[in-house]
Amino acid sequence: MDGMLVIISGPSGSGKGTVVKQLRPEDGYALSISVTTRKPREGETDGRDYFFTSEENFHKMREEHDLLEHAVYVGNYYGTPRKYVEEQIQKGKIVVLEIEVYGALQVKEKFPSAVLIFLMPPTLPELAARLTKRGTEDAVTIEARLKKTLEEVPLIDSYNYVVINDVIPDAVAKIDAIVLAERMKPFRAVEKIKQFTDSQKEIIC
Ligand code: 5GP
Repeated sequence: MDGMLVIISGPSGSGKGTVVKQLRPEDGYALSISVTTRKPREGETDGRDYFFTSEENFHKMREEHDLLEHAVYVGNYYGTPRKYVEEQIQKGKIVVLEIEVYGALQVKEKFPSAVLIFLMPPTLPELAARLTKRGTEDAVTIEARLKKTLEEVPLIDSYNYVVINDVIPDAVAKIDAIVLAERMKPFRAVEKIKQFTDSQKEIIC
């Protein structure tokens, strides 16, 4: 099976992280781990949640073209390491990038066949409540993240799908369904179709 890229974006607090972690490696998913200059939150581990790094090292990676895309989000830099993504696509994996919209649009330019999914929280008040309850950011940062959300929403038109994240297992099932359907698009089966027609020489005289 050919590899593919799936991008999942959505507001901070929309539950992206939780949903993405439930996509099963047995089903072919490979999650990309981003590089960030943000400080780790309590409970976050380097190499599992992010590769936490300095601004100096981040810019070095960017200059050396080690990042597939990068963006600034509320004062911190984030980027996708290129090598892992390319290797996993080669292996036929469904590579999942959990990234914000400007990074997603950069990837879409480079890989037009990437599938872009926007995960929406049910309502804005619910999102604000989730962020406050999470307790990992102060009030000023929460407000900055909510403003960022409102800035991202008009860009949803560039996405292929919108999934409302009301109940987590439902959102996961919807993403699985999208990926299943996407894998059956004819342009992803070019090699298979070619093999099918090429084999006629052996069967039809
Ligand atoms: P957080 O600080 O809440 O972990 O992430 C903030 C935002 O950065 C989220 O919208 C998240 O999806 C996004 N993000 C995480 N990694 C990357 C990345 O590698 N590239 C881009 N462009 N955005 C990222």
